[in-house]
Order: sequence, then structure tokens, then C-alpha cells
Amino acid sequence: MVNKISYMHCYTWRILVILIFSPLLLNCATNIVPCSSTPTPTGLINADILLNDLKILSSDAMQGRKTGTHGGFKAKRFIQQRFSEIKLNFFEESYHHPFTYDFNNFRQGNNIIGWKKGKQKAEQYIVITAHYDHLGQKGNIIYNGADDNASGVAAMLSLAEYLKNKETHHSVIFVATDAEELGLHGAKAFIKNPPIALERIKLNINLDMLAQSGKRKKLYIAGTRNNPQLKAIADATAYRSDICLKTGHDGRSRNKDSFLNVINWKKASDHALFYKSAINYLYFGVDIHRHYHQPSDTIETINPAFYTSAVEAITTAFLLVDELNF
Ligand SMILES: [Zn+2]
Repeated sequence: MVNKISYMHCYTWRILVILIFSPLLLNCATNIVPCSSTPTPTGLINADILLNDLKILSSDAMQGRKTGTHGGFKAKRFIQQRFSEIKLNFFEESYHHPFTYDFNNFRQGNNIIGWKKGKQKAEQYIVITAHYDHLGQKGNIIYNGADDNASGVAAMLSLAEYLKNKETHHSVIFVATDAEELGLHGAKAFIKNPPIALERIKLNINLDMLAQSGKRKKLYIAGTRNNPQLKAIADATAYRSDICLKTGHDGRSRNKDSFLNVINWKKASDHALFYKSAINYLYFGVDIHRHYHQPSDTIETINPAFYTSAVEAITTAFLLVDELNF
């Protein structure tokens, strides 16, 4: 009874608070709402398309999508085809942006970049990133990387699909990066040779590992520490979401499976390069889990309802940030 009363009290406040957009009081609300153990997607996005893209990207035919391999090229072609179906624009003459990187010797990686022009703030860009490469194959064992990071790429395609016939305030760039697993090389190449001036990039939204809910069924939004505007967006998104969406992963934390293994979340994925260039970011990702970088990271071990709800939350967050004046 007491919980109920405090929940209702906080709920009323929360509605008021969302209206006046105060991040401070929203904290009270997000801590009180219990996290759902059975996420129920609302139908905001097309779950069939999302899960089909995930299935294709994480299939054995993609051979673990290692940079420079046949499987990596296959994944690249598939993403290019999906960008084309969604009718994203390209910079220069195609979606294909090759780059070289140094890994013992110089090798080639392939970023895939498409974009959509904004209406009111066409000269200001939001960049969505998701790496499509993974670990490939070791002998006969395929590292399918369903969570890491077919889930981020399929989510990015889902967002592009959602926005297909809608106007956005900002222009939006979609980047499927390559060679992330080898040292964030695709993101480095994008920042080193951006298709538009870096000053015009107002925000990076990085998607990396969204589908393995783990026991705690939590999705983290990082990048909100010291940024009240983005914290308010994260809180408003958490309020509207049916999954356990938490701000955090903004600094270092210990891997719960290995006490000595400290993760610096600021450097953990492609958003690190945007952060280094003083561009704000929101990074969506789950915690390290038992299937991480294991052959068991397959579509069979992900949680489809959690994943769909996670992508719905990302879509909601995008719509809220698109309203911002950066
Ligand atoms: Zn990853």
C-alpha cells in the first residue's frame, strides 16, 4: 500500500515534470518504477523487419562478419542493399567508404554511410553508428555476433526505416562501421575524413549490443553524465519504455565476471572517437554477458521482446533529441 501511494504520488509528479522538462525530479520517478521482467513492445517499430535483419546479419552465411573476409563483404552488400531499399542518400557516388588502417600492416576496411536530409535544421547532423564487423570464424566455429553487433546494425536499419517517410528537424547520417573489433578503426576513419564538417555534427548515437538482456534485463544509456539536456532525454525515454533503461556506463566499471577486468565505457565502442572530438554522444548497450565474444552469441540466445523494446526506446530517444536545440 505504501509503495502504491508513493508510486502514484511520483507518477503525478512525473507527468508534471515531463511537461516542464525538469531532469532532477525525473530521477525520483525512474528509480521507483520497477523494471519489467516481460517487456511488451508497443508496435512503434516493425518487429518482423527488425528481427529478420538481425537473423540475416547473424546467420552462418555471414561467417561472423570479420573485416576483410568473404563474410564481411557479404554483410557489407546486405547493408548497402537495405540502405538502398530505405532510399537513404549517399555522399559522393555510393554508400561505400573504404579506408585503410594499420593492424600489423596496412589493411582495408569498409564503412557504409547513408544519410537523410533534415527539414528545419538541415545543416546540423545527428550521426547514428553501429559496427557490423565481428570476430569471424575460428576453425569450423562461427562467431555469429547476434548481439555484438548484428543487433546494433539491425536497430539502425529499423530507425532509418521508421524515419523513411517522416520529416526530421536535423539531417541524419547512418554509419555501419567496420573494423571496430580490431580497434575502432571504422569510427577513426569517419572522424578523420568526415563527409561533412565535424562542427556540424551535434550528436552521435552509438548502438552496440542491444539484444542480450541477461539476468538483469537492463539497457544502459551512456553519455549523459555532465549533460543535463541529454540526461533529461534519457529519463523521459526511460519513463516511456517498458524495459529497464538506466543511465550509466559513463566511466570505468569492473566486469562482474572478472574482478581484475576494468571496462572504460567511454572507450568501449565507436562513440569514443566522437567523445574525443568533443561531440556529445548517447551510447545504448547492455552489460557484458556470458555470450559476449563467444560462439553462443547467436539469435537463439537473444531476447526478442527485450530487443524490440530496446529499439523502440532508441526510436523514442531519437525523436526527443531531434526536437532539441543543440
Ligand atoms: Zn561490439
